[in-house]
Amino acid sequence: MASITLQNIVKEYGDGFPAVNDVSLDIDDGEFVILVGPSGCGKSTLLRMIVGLEDITAGDLLIGGQRVNDLAPRDRNLAMVFQNYALYPHLTVYENIAFPMRLVKGQFSADEIDRRVRRASRMLELDEHLDRKPGNLSGGQRQRVAMGRAIVREAQAFLFDEPLSNLDAKLRGQMRAEISRLQRQLNTTSVYVTHDQTEAMTLGDRVAVLKKGVLQQVASPRELYEQPANLFVAGFIGAPSMNFVPGTVEGSVLKTPLGDIELPTEAASAGAGRDIVLAGIRPSFFEDASTLSEAQLSKGSTFTAELTHTEWLGNEQYVYVSYENDPRVAETMRTLAEDMDADELRTQLVIAVDAASRLRGGDTARLWIDTKRIHLFDPATGENLT
Ligand code: ATP
Repeated sequence: MASITLQNIVKEYGDGFPAVNDVSLDIDDGEFVILVGPSGCGKSTLLRMIVGLEDITAGDLLIGGQRVNDLAPRDRNLAMVFQNYALYPHLTVYENIAFPMRLVKGQFSADEIDRRVRRASRMLELDEHLDRKPGNLSGGQRQRVAMGRAIVREAQAFLFDEPLSNLDAKLRGQMRAEISRLQRQLNTTSVYVTHDQTEAMTLGDRVAVLKKGVLQQVASPRELYEQPANLFVAGFIGAPSMNFVPGTVEGSVLKTPLGDIELPTEAASAGAGRDIVLAGIRPSFFEDASTLSEAQLSKGSTFTAELTHTEWLGNEQYVYVSYENDPRVAETMRTLAEDMDADELRTQLVIAVDAASRLRGGDTARLWIDTKRIHLFDPATGENLT
């Protein structure tokens, strides 16, 4: 096992536009780090550089404190788990798992290979399927064979490249739990690439968010959600996405197209003196005011709005409110949508309320905001001011 250190890593593919741009990241021994971001942000490139499948244009890569930029992939002692499992269809499960050890001729005795294959297959509950071929296995079992191959290597680190993206939702959930359990059990340093934020939020000790090759924030899932560094991270993490409402701070009040929102002192002073800010309000920060007591209402701010429509999801309900956008933030919102691969600019508020709420499209409703949790962002730089 080993730490992985990236120091000012750059990758250029020759078109002059860096696919990975000056990324520095320390991954501790035994840590599970997720690389996440929209398509094309450079996460696979970063992983491929770590494993040695891609040259590093500039910067240093250290594994266990040793610079490995020029080391061949096989000498880095890392195990990669791919999306398509890369299993050999003509070999049995046993032989597929044994394969990496047979590849380095003479290094492992037949006894040692057998011991490692049996140990891995016990951990993965594959013991009963050792004689089968991959074609006769379920998607989840194939995934476990791929994991088995990584385990028998007793590698310094596991690298996962979107391993679950070919699986259906149910299996993905099961395999997510499985990978998490195995990683904790083996305590092997792991780097996991995904564009799925549920995987990012549930698997990792820390999550590194990338946009256009640039690292935006590295933090625990909870910190990313509660204290996003900028507009991009705020919008990317959380589903449905955070709402961004333009407004101007006057004293302790945020003047918005939705109405006046009374801000806590700290937020008000963070936004004071600025022409315009974007208020970041997650759908879950709202409530149907008619369901709250006076004491609860007094802990936030309320406004009245006409609801365009609602969506009932069983465990909760989404309520939508349209508002007039401010031309001063139009460019920021357009760029943000583009960066996040979103189809449209949102001038629509998404509010998550209790499934029991009786709000309906066309209603004029009083809505409550938990103002303590509002973030204010600078629309020019994207920086979180609160
Ligand atoms: P996805 O989630 O779609 O796989 P990603 O975040 O993993 O995306 P990369 O595959 O690392 O992104 O690609 C980052 C950028 O580098 C993209 O702009 C991509 O077009 C470019 N790129 C990747 N591989 C090559 C290559 N072999 N030659 C030229 N450009 C490449």
